[in-house]
This record gives sequence, structure tokens and C-alpha cells, in this order.
Amino acid sequence: MDEAQHRKGILFVMTGASGVGKDTIRRAALPAIDGMVYSISATTRGRRPGEVHGEQYYFYDRTTFEGMIERDELLEYADYVGDYYGTPSLPVRQAMDDGSDVLLELELVGAREVKRKIPEAVMLFIAPPSLYELERRLRGRGTDSEAKIQKRLARARDEIRAVREFDYAIVNDVLEDAVGLFTSIIRAERARASHLQDSDVADFLREQG
Ligand code: 5GP
Repeated sequence: MDEAQHRKGILFVMTGASGVGKDTIRRAALPAIDGMVYSISATTRGRRPGEVHGEQYYFYDRTTFEGMIERDELLEYADYVGDYYGTPSLPVRQAMDDGSDVLLELELVGAREVKRKIPEAVMLFIAPPSLYELERRLRGRGTDSEAKIQKRLARARDEIRAVREFDYAIVNDVLEDAVGLFTSIIRAERARASHLQDSDVADFLREQG
């Protein structure tokens, strides 16, 4: 197919405090959304119980991660509460070139970097009903030390203050509502007339069956 006619995937970025339920929303929503690929990030943080290399994250040591930075293999990366997190570029570019939409889950620094590099990326912010509720969820998860919880809450406060930089805000209070809204936003973005390719317009204009 002619390159100009090939549909290029849309990049969606989902940001929101640690513990706000980004993973839960994604896992609930993606099975019902065709043509969307989730980008698995690289990180230097330790594995939580049940996490598997290549599923939740690619778990690397700092030397390996810094090698990826030096070779410019990351679309973006950030330091979050003492660990590196980053998005390997190649799978994202390949999926988008193949016409799949791609979903990234990023903290704020990385989200801003992606927006700078790819201005047409669609930016979604997942907000907690309140910081009080977020703290309750973070503690309930039981995976972080008190010091890490405090650092994650401090980051959450900064991220929430930046919410108006995003295109959409989804409050994760009742999960089904958040999943429904997330799915509707993806559908609406896909229907944006500006995403249509020449071939789509040619189809609309076809006068014979
Ligand atoms: P967690 O340790 O809770 O899995 O993730 C901590 C934070 O890092 C979350 O806000 C998560 O969205 C973010 N994060 C995960 N992967 C990436 C990534 O590839 N790049 C950036 N910048 N942030 C990420």
C-alpha cells in the first residue's frame, strides 16, 4: 500500500499517580478494544510478587538501562522515586507504522517528553477521587515501604496539579465508569476526521459499488 494511504496508529498516553488504578483500567478495557497495543516499559525497580519479566515490565539493572539511554533506544525515560522507567522506541514505532494504536503508561516527566516529541499524542490523566483515597489504596497494596509511599504521594500531588496539561481527565472512583469513559475516549479519538487517510476519503467518494 502507498505509504501516504497507510493508516498510522494513534499514540495514547495514560498518566496518573501510582496506585490510582491505571493498570486495572487498562486490563479491563483493552480486551474490548481492537487494534490497540500496550507498550511494555523497561525499569530498574525491583519486581513485586507475581511480576514477570516481559509482562508488566522488562526488569533491567542500572548498567543495562543506562546502555539503552546511551544508544538512544528509549522514546522517553524518567527517574521515579529512585528508579529508572522508560519506553523502548522500536516496538512503539513498529506498531504505529503497522497501523495499531499504542498505549503508554507514564509518569508526568515522561508524558511531557512524549508530547514534546509527538504533539499529536492523545494525553489521558487518571485522577483519584482524592489524595486521601489514593493514600488508602497505596497502603492497601502493601508493596511499598513507608518512605516510598510518602515519595509516591508527593509525586502524585505534583502530577495532579498538572492535570490541565492533558486532553482528558478520568476520575477512577467507580471502576466500571472509569473503564467506560476510557473506552469512549479511545473510540471518539479514532473517529477524529483529521486521522482519516486519503484512501478513506477516496472510499467515501466512490460512486460505483
Ligand atoms: P510502578 O512502580 O508503580 O509500576 O510505576 C511507577 C510510575 O512509573 C507510574 O506512574 C508509572 O505509570 C510510571 N511508568 C511506568 N512505565 C514508565 C515508563 O516507561 N516511562 C515513564 N516515564 N514512566 C513510567
